[in-house]
Amino acid sequence: MQNPVFIPGPTNIPEFIRKAVDMPTLDHRSATFAAILRPALEGVRRVVKSDRAEVLVFPSTGTGGWEAAISNTLSPGDRVLAARHGLFSHRWIDMCERHGLDMEVVEAPWGAALPASRFAEILAADKNHRIKAVIATHNETATGVRSDIAAVRRALDAAGHPALLLVDGVSSIGSMDFRMDEWGVDIAVTGSQKGFMLPPGLAILALSPRAMAAVKSATLPRCFFDFRDMADAQAKGLYPYTPPVGLLNGLHVACNALLHEGLEAVFARHRRIADGVRAAASAWGLPLCADDPATYSDTVSAIRTPDGFDANLLVHRAATVYGTFFGTGLGQLSGRAFRIGHLGSMTDAMALSGIATIEMCMADLGLPIRLGSGVAAAQDVYRHRDAMRAAA
Ligand SMILES: *Cc1c(COP(=O)(O)O)cnc(C)c1O
Repeated sequence: MQNPVFIPGPTNIPEFIRKAVDMPTLDHRSATFAAILRPALEGVRRVVKSDRAEVLVFPSTGTGGWEAAISNTLSPGDRVLAARHGLFSHRWIDMCERHGLDMEVVEAPWGAALPASRFAEILAADKNHRIKAVIATHNETATGVRSDIAAVRRALDAAGHPALLLVDGVSSIGSMDFRMDEWGVDIAVTGSQKGFMLPPGLAILALSPRAMAAVKSATLPRCFFDFRDMADAQAKGLYPYTPPVGLLNGLHVACNALLHEGLEAVFARHRRIADGVRAAASAWGLPLCADDPATYSDTVSAIRTPDGFDANLLVHRAATVYGTFFGTGLGQLSGRAFRIGHLGSMTDAMALSGIATIEMCMADLGLPIRLGSGVAAAQDVYRHRDAMRAAA
């Protein structure tokens, strides 16, 4: 028997999406393929709230999406501004360094959001516009922290700075509000296996006209991920190589499901489920890694465990004894925190089962919690959903 997963990606796949992915072979040079591809691209554009973005979907993952973003828009030695405040923002920086980019890194505590005010100072001081791109991780999946992308845009605009704004939305897009046009995002990157509730296998990118224009002058090598080849092919309803047809069909169906539920309703559901998980953590007396309630992620909660306790044992016990997967602490949080992923195909009832399960693991391993305390705290949140809706 199968339990839902509580890792922050890959997420649970609803049955109707799994069926949409399971397709017989078809000719990807036929009109049948174009009829699958076009609505999938249009669906992504609507999910990221853009009227004008060019959406490109590559067979890859979110990380491949980053590589595509960097290699298509930047040249060796270009200066890039980034903050390191968790494992995923760290990995972006590492990738940029390996591409020979000149990194200006703002170090921030793991648990803090991207320091937008520091970015504003750096951008204002960069009078000669040496910085070519600003990289931001919208939702740091390692720490459960959401950063303010609108504030990064304001910092760029206040400095009159032309740098491109590249945003990792891998664990936010489709689950938390993401406003590509309003925030002036030049490239939004995500993958198929988080908010879109699909198996892994797609790098999904939305590109502003400025990002598409930057491809012409950027000289980093790229071939498989060349935006122009993909854009030219997709404009004709084609692919520059063999497309993952089933995943693209699933993407179309997933976008329809999100848009049918209503994006604002999807975001409210994630907020409510996250509020319940946070109430449970508070009832257990365990702090979140996120240091400011204004930055709490609605897709993943990283929960600290007491000093001297190995948080990995909780995750291991949940998997081996109860057949339920949670996320481990990553990087410097390894052993010090565990993560509950609550994004994608997730309901109040599913979240309650996860909270109940990890609570059993805590009791089994001798953490001083009272069985049922986290569940009851979450129930209190979920019972009042009608009142929450009325107040919203
Ligand atoms: C999952 C994740 C990634 C990595 O995506 P892959 O699809 O595993 O390559 C990158 N950034 C964030 C914020 C993520 O949550």
